Amino acid sequence: MIPYGRQDIRPEDIEAVTEVLKSDFLTQGPAVPAFEAAICEAVSARHAVAVSSATAALHIACLALDLGPGDWLWTSPITFVASANVGIYCGAKVDFVDIDPETFNMSPDALEAKLRDAEAAGRLPKVIMPVHMAGQPCDMEKIGALARRYGIRVIEDASHGIGGRDGATPTGACAHSDIAVFSFHPVKIITTGEGGAATTNDPALAERMALLRSHGITRDPGRMTRPSEGGWYYEQLELGFNYRMTDIQAALGRSQMRHLGERIDRRHERAAVYDAAFDGWPLKRPWQRPDARSAYHLYIVRLDDGFDRGQVFAALREAGIGVNVHYIPVHLQPFWRQFGFGPGDFPSAEAYYAAAITLPLHATLSEADQSQVISAVGAALGR
Ligand SMILES: *Cc1c(COP(=O)(O)O)cnc(C)c1O
Repeated sequence: MIPYGRQDIRPEDIEAVTEVLKSDFLTQGPAVPAFEAAICEAVSARHAVAVSSATAALHIACLALDLGPGDWLWTSPITFVASANVGIYCGAKVDFVDIDPETFNMSPDALEAKLRDAEAAGRLPKVIMPVHMAGQPCDMEKIGALARRYGIRVIEDASHGIGGRDGATPTGACAHSDIAVFSFHPVKIITTGEGGAATTNDPALAERMALLRSHGITRDPGRMTRPSEGGWYYEQLELGFNYRMTDIQAALGRSQMRHLGERIDRRHERAAVYDAAFDGWPLKRPWQRPDARSAYHLYIVRLDDGFDRGQVFAALREAGIGVNVHYIPVHLQPFWRQFGFGPGDFPSAEAYYAAAITLPLHATLSEADQSQVISAVGAALGR
């Protein structure tokens, strides 16, 4: 099976991990801050907090913005369930903003209309969480301006997005948001096995997230409420978690970061081959913002009317192509139905879902494998 996504592990990555295994620190050593510094430099953010997963990063990002009971979190229905779940972790309520059918990202127009209604109803969200779907940057300028107008905080779910940019601004620079979050799961752009990071330009948010990552405990005398009782002394200031990233993971991540640009270039080259091959075929190729560079985490096509997505999907799997679908709209998941969501709530998201198929795209996809994918898609579409 040719997978839709796959890690790209090079000999130098293995060496970097081996070095940590021979060192004094497997966790809470120097590799984590070194990885965080590499992220800051690559995405032009002042602070980065590396954690055990993007889900953990989204959770502590929400907590750092004081999302809690009585508050609303709004995100996109076309995302991985974790984006919405973290709102429930915080005891908040969650709602969705429909997507733009062209970009697959949260529609700024739908957001504007929903904010107007929410203001009238007295239920504005505390936090909105746009998702850079497939690595394609959202229109953060518009979303950020709306958030500022209504006094709302913004977390970018940039799980797909590291290495992308909007104009000259890297995804994760937080130019129009409070916090951005990356995932380092093996199918994403770079990997640490499991892992994630939150970036921000606000030192207070960075400090709060660092505290929440490790049980709410500080050893910083400047933050303690009482004089130190000795060299062993630490204080727990609030309820945190063990969301730490190990040094083993961070060394892998730091090594992977060295070729971030090249990895994105490879994805664009492969995407261009698909684009050329599918010219005139009965499908829509993924739209690309002219003034932005997608990280190209996923290559998603939408089948034209008249094709049954289920049948085409099954034929491609049968042919050994590891196609996938990103994503089943979150509001249609059984868990989310208890909050009153159902079919018809977010029509653009549902129409997108009915026609979408993710084709294999990753930095190590060979030309031969890609040709096989293209032939199989042709056969499935009767070409
Ligand atoms: C992968 C992903 C997550 C969760 O990432 P983990 O690192 O697996 O926790 C969250 N949001 C989106 C959009 C993702 O694709």
